[in-house]
Amino acid sequence: EAQSATPSPPKVKSKGLDVPKLWSESKDTRKSAAAFVVIGHVDHGKSTLMGRLLLDAGAVAQRDIDKYKKQATELNKSSFALAWVMDTGSEERERGVTVDIAQHPFQTANTDFTILDAPGHRDFVPNMLAGATMADLAVLVVDANQLESGMKGQTKEHILLAKACGLSKVVVAVNKLDATAPKAWDEQTFHHVKAEVGKLLQSVGFEKEDVLYVPCSGLGGTNVVNPAPSSGDTAWVTGASGTLLHHLESSPAASPADDQVKAPLRMQIADVFRGSITNPLSVSGRIAAGNVQVGDIVVIQPSGEKATIRGIEVSSEPGDWAVATELCTLHLADIDPVHLRAGDVLCSTAQPVGVIRSFVTQVEVLEPLLPQGVDVHVGRLHVPGSVAALISTVDAKGEVVRKKPRVAKAGETANVKVVLETGAPLPVGERVVLRSGGSTVASGRVGSVSVGR
Ligand code: GDP
Repeated sequence: EAQSATPSPPKVKSKGLDVPKLWSESKDTRKSAAAFVVIGHVDHGKSTLMGRLLLDAGAVAQRDIDKYKKQATELNKSSFALAWVMDTGSEERERGVTVDIAQHPFQTANTDFTILDAPGHRDFVPNMLAGATMADLAVLVVDANQLESGMKGQTKEHILLAKACGLSKVVVAVNKLDATAPKAWDEQTFHHVKAEVGKLLQSVGFEKEDVLYVPCSGLGGTNVVNPAPSSGDTAWVTGASGTLLHHLESSPAASPADDQVKAPLRMQIADVFRGSITNPLSVSGRIAAGNVQVGDIVVIQPSGEKATIRGIEVSSEPGDWAVATELCTLHLADIDPVHLRAGDVLCSTAQPVGVIRSFVTQVEVLEPLLPQGVDVHVGRLHVPGSVAALISTVDAKGEVVRKKPRVAKAGETANVKVVLETGAPLPVGERVVLRSGGSTVASGRVGSVSVGR
């Protein structure tokens, strides 16, 4: 009967590997990996630049670009051909699903890179927050000809958010230098943009030595992967900076500390995939703490349901194990997909992340903050909630300035109590961003919590 036609799949057995030991033995020889998120004002050339990077690094074929060019020319939008590479990511093609955070891998001899891209302009910020929490660094794209619009607009918010997500390194692509006025590749324009963007980054708290500037043109492909011609308009470029790829390679991800690898497993789920025959149910994300191996049983919070790890991919390569900081796809068994949502946290059964209902946090206030409704963002997770109480504002030393203020002003630091509409898996210390009406109002870290679903 039907029963004999669908035998239950064989149980996945753990090999009982000592993952921290395997990690420490192989860490010096493992190829370095780095993931970056792309930020910047709309139309400053993010998609075009990334399409160019993927093309010239050999991750997409010229014939695909030619195909996009043909389609784009028919629509009178030939300049968009490169940007289309990002819209039709390999993941979406292969898995036939739309993802919120597209991962575009490419390799060089030294490093496995992943571009974390928040597709589309609508709802860019929630996706950017998710990408930034998985990234090692940010690439900030600035149109050299549109400095003002960018600085006042999304550039500043994106920089604040990157910082709020814990990113400390930024590569600034000073883009569209092929189109500067009065002449192309105007060196003064590059230095002016560099100075202004530098001021903005430092005002938000980025250290000077953690920021690199690259003059480039994504559309023309100048100084992205291929160096600029050393004569003519671009003669000054090599002296001012290496290529974008060169700077990405010189900012590799920090490798995890031993105790981070030995800590209880914790991975926020960035995306859930269903449908492949060999692996009917998979999740992707970046391991925040601990390690995982095939055969492990894990628990998903907030549902509290268990699942078995049936397969692991790190940088798109199948393997037996993965450790903290690695971007991976985990293939799961023994769990109903209704218990898996993006933003959930996959954790060790021994020490799962607690599900909390409210928390106290010390926030940097970006817009006047009252007791009000807010969207609480923690990486890929967003839950509706409210600032239930303003407890106090404090000075730089943490001394109370005002108790129970009616409002906390932009630029102030405030202790607030946040109540969530539903229980969420938030560990103490996690970075949170509070948004309201489409703008970011405050950011901080989860302090003391109260538990509950
Ligand atoms: P995004 O919104 O930041 O992703 O920007 P897009 O990549 O979609 O580019 C916006 C517009 O700027 C398109 O018309 C591009 O062709 C154009 N563009 C992008 N990069 C360059 C560049 O390096 N030079 C010039 N002149 N135009 C560019």
